[in-house]
Amino acid sequence: MQTINELQLAKELIRYPSITPIDAGVMKFLEKKLRKLGFKTKILEFKEKNTKPVKNLYARLGTKGPNFCYAGHLDVVPAGNLKDWTVNPFRPSIKKGHLIGRGANDMKSSIAAFVSAVSIFVKNNKEFNGSISLLITGDEEGIAINGTKKVVEYLKKRKEKINFCLVGEPTNPNKLGEMIKIGRRGSMTGRLSVIGVQGHVAYPHRANNPSTTLVQILKELKEIKFDKGTKDFQPTNLEVTKINIDNTADNVIPGLANATFNIRFNNNHSSNQTTYMIQDVIKKITKIKPELSTTGGTSDARFIRKIAPCLEFGLVGKTMHKVDEAVSLGDLKKLTLIYSNILKNYFK
Ligand SMILES: [Zn+2]
Repeated sequence: MQTINELQLAKELIRYPSITPIDAGVMKFLEKKLRKLGFKTKILEFKEKNTKPVKNLYARLGTKGPNFCYAGHLDVVPAGNLKDWTVNPFRPSIKKGHLIGRGANDMKSSIAAFVSAVSIFVKNNKEFNGSISLLITGDEEGIAINGTKKVVEYLKKRKEKINFCLVGEPTNPNKLGEMIKIGRRGSMTGRLSVIGVQGHVAYPHRANNPSTTLVQILKELKEIKFDKGTKDFQPTNLEVTKINIDNTADNVIPGLANATFNIRFNNNHSSNQTTYMIQDVIKKITKIKPELSTTGGTSDARFIRKIAPCLEFGLVGKTMHKVDEAVSLGDLKKLTLIYSNILKNYFK
């Protein structure tokens, strides 16, 4: 069997303008590729009231356990103003050792690297003890209602066992190999409304200004020391994100003051042997020992962790969602090598 070239596949994937929730045919394209490698595949389309339908893909090679799963998304954010790009975002171009295009970084190239890694692994290990699967969504950059969340529910219902999941999102801030993400802090948004009594600014005793109370409450909230953090997690933190007093007059004490705050809280996590194996593989190939981190925004790992232990490792995230989104060709090669070595070690 021929192996799949990661650069060629990354280019092919970028050519599909799969801006969430539009699929543009990319899911079917990847499905075909995986079938050629021997995967059993299923395209899962989910829809909910007031949302657009989204296509997802679950593919599995082999029937035995353990099942090593790679998770990612084929949807991309819009290109923005095309004039700001030096190339057409959906016509992948190579410039100064970089592949440029929407999704080059987040995260079509990573998917291409994993599929290429599978093709290399399968060529060298025709009979391996276990299964390799891919969980690919088309709803990561969007509202994430018809994506991984529903695929996980579907897999749970079918009693499909995943033993370990590697999420291929861009995790490295500057250099490939710097960072593995082993969890995320939780997030909670709070909304605070203080109802006062509206009145004339010149007669404050006849009014009750809610903004004074609001500021006092926010100050107290901000001063709470939730915890000191743990070895792997930053301390829990609260940030006020909005203060809103809807008032058009300068001589009126408002009757209502609103605020919104967001808390990022930490949690304990269970790391396991696979994490250390992956850390070793990355170190061997990049010569950098990756930090185990819990920074960053949310990812679909929040859904998958309900059915399997997860970690995230992918490309350098510097250009994600930006104009001229790019991946270095060297990194793409290295990531493919890392992924194929992870598979080799996992099934050893
Ligand atoms: Zn992403």
